[in-house]
Amino acid sequence: MARDPFYQAQLIERIDFTDDLALFRFRTDKPLSFSPGQYATLAVEDGDKLIQRPYSIVSSPFEAFLEFFIERVHEGELTPRLWELKPSEKVLVRNRTVGRFTLDTDSGLNRHLMLATVTGIAPYISMARTHRLNIERGETKPQHFAIIQGASHSRELGIYKDELTELARNDWLTYIPTISRPWTDPDWRGETGRVEDVIRKHADRLGFDSTRAMAYACGHPQMIENARSILARARFPKEHIKEENYFLV
Ligand SMILES: Cc1cc2nc3c(=O)[nH]c(=O)nc-3n(C[C@H](O)[C@H](O)[C@H](O)COP(=O)(O)OP(=O)(O)OC[C@H]3O[C@@H](n4cnc5c(N)ncnc54)[C@H](O)[C@@H]3O)c2cc1C
Repeated sequence: MARDPFYQAQLIERIDFTDDLALFRFRTDKPLSFSPGQYATLAVEDGDKLIQRPYSIVSSPFEAFLEFFIERVHEGELTPRLWELKPSEKVLVRNRTVGRFTLDTDSGLNRHLMLATVTGIAPYISMARTHRLNIERGETKPQHFAIIQGASHSRELGIYKDELTELARNDWLTYIPTISRPWTDPDWRGETGRVEDVIRKHADRLGFDSTRAMAYACGHPQMIENARSILARARFPKEHIKEENYFLV
């Protein structure tokens, strides 16, 4: 039974990248309006109680479905239930989306240095899918995205690695996936280390410095804290750093 202010969201697709990381696509019974970078609140009923958690939206507002990239927290309340969902089963999604982790338009800067740990890539994919469509429709001036995504193993990047690698054929997007445990990933030929280890190397090389770029950090709180210090030392003003912290440690 759906209750106001929630819509029903039917699971239409799920792709597992690992045992604990999956893409979920839902169709909602009414269209949800949002800006790229914002999050939706997913919920399930548990007796009289509603278990609800925020999730950054991967899909673009132009798409006919809502997509999420979710990590299962085994001891958590909501994610184990999401893993039990079967195709066509429903959850609830709050009818209002919120969040300020959107592409900056205030600073006048058109370079965007985007840092993510694993699922923290979600808002940037929404922004990139939307930006590509806007360019195709001639509705925007190109912005420049440099996305650095960290994971332990390459399989955690899932099919988003392929999507972003393909998008990076456009000169407005650079995608740098980096793996912190390369010894367990013998075929990996890309960047190695944590996001924090490679920010300066790539930001400096690509010209995403404090005078030209906004910075964004999304996902694991420790990466965000470390990135904040690194960006501060690189003279990024506080108001040019946006953060989306997924949980408390
Ligand atoms: C704005 C926002 C956007 C978010 N977007 C996403 C997203 O796109 N994808 C996504 O997977 N999660 C996202 N999260 C985290 C999500 O809201 C939940 O916290 C997470 O899915 C765990 O929910 P749970 O009910 O299973 O666990 P809970 O019962 O909420 O948590 C149990 C414990 O696990 C800790 N915890 C929560 N998440 C993690 C984690 N990933 N790793 C380790 N410990 C954790 C909590 O701090 C808590 O101590 C987002 C959070 C915020 C605030």
